[in-house]
Amino acid sequence: MSNLLQIDGSYGEGGGQILRTSLTMSMLTGTPIQISNIRAKRSKPGLKAQHLACIHAAQTISNAEISGAKPNSQQIIFRPNSIKAGDYHFRIGTAGSTTLLMQTVAPALMTLNKKSTMIFEGGTHTQWAPTYDFIAQAYLPMLRRMGVAIEVNIERYGFYPQGGGQWSATIKPSSPIQALKVLERGELLSQKAVITCCKIPEHVPKREILTLLPHTQWSAKDFKSQWVNGLAGGNVISLRLFYENCSEVIDTLGRKGLASHIVANNAAKLLRQYLKTDAPIGEYLADQLLLPMAIAKGGVFRTTTPSQHTFSNRKIIEVFTGQYFKFEKVSNNMWEISL
Ligand code: ATP
Repeated sequence: MSNLLQIDGSYGEGGGQILRTSLTMSMLTGTPIQISNIRAKRSKPGLKAQHLACIHAAQTISNAEISGAKPNSQQIIFRPNSIKAGDYHFRIGTAGSTTLLMQTVAPALMTLNKKSTMIFEGGTHTQWAPTYDFIAQAYLPMLRRMGVAIEVNIERYGFYPQGGGQWSATIKPSSPIQALKVLERGELLSQKAVITCCKIPEHVPKREILTLLPHTQWSAKDFKSQWVNGLAGGNVISLRLFYENCSEVIDTLGRKGLASHIVANNAAKLLRQYLKTDAPIGEYLADQLLLPMAIAKGGVFRTTTPSQHTFSNRKIIEVFTGQYFKFEKVSNNMWEISL
């Protein structure tokens, strides 16, 4: 036991992020770990399908020895071997988030000088996780700026509760991952509102667009609705802003029983919040960029007030590598995160 790095899963928000970041860092550094108190602060603690899928995916790519990976378990041991490039197919049997699974394994595969392909099956647009579109249009452009050659393609959308979405990612060998530097947004190049609909009444996207229009200074041609296939019905309002130096995707999910004007008003509120500051990197993207920056061993970006997830990722990365991100408040609502 003594050669295992001990991780307390109840740290900070005490959720699944601590498990996922620890798995990735364990693979990247070749450090065997024991994680205890997994998701201790969640109403249903322990490992759920999505977390088990992340553990098994990490095991697959690093030929790890594991124990304790059972439903509801609050403790696992994970001993990675070397990370191997390959053609992988990861399935979550539920609408569990495939994007969070991707963010667990892709940073490890990105460091290899061989091509990997990954197919993901499960949830693609779910609550409390990045949507596929957030990954494709906000997260990956930042990785590409760091020199990572990664492409994605969606075949089927996966909404709660059945999931059943499918998408793929290809990582090509690239030069060593470089430090990221994003201090300002730069010019606004374009903006787009995409309303995605699956098996829902036709009036929903129309009402959502009508509600959103007066909240934005966008013209009608910036709005479009699209109908997609999926096992479960779904509705996403995706507000996308493309600047010279960064992009932001603000996705709001509709759900049965929630009126379309409420979904649209919620989306408009999140857009106002993002536009209220000049911070280039949004709250969610901020926590997600720490891992790639740790691989690059450097970088700097500006963001809004860091979330608990951002603090937790800093802590976990420090436990593995001793690298400590500096969080500095530079003005009201603007923080600089650097390594
Ligand atoms: P669990 O709920 O399984 O315990 P968790 O607590 O780690 O897991 P969350 O805290 O909800 O899960 O979030 C996980 C990740 O999803 C974080 O990286 C966060 O930035 C990201 N995320 C959550 N909501 C959004 C969103 N609307 N857009 C983009 N990313 C998001």
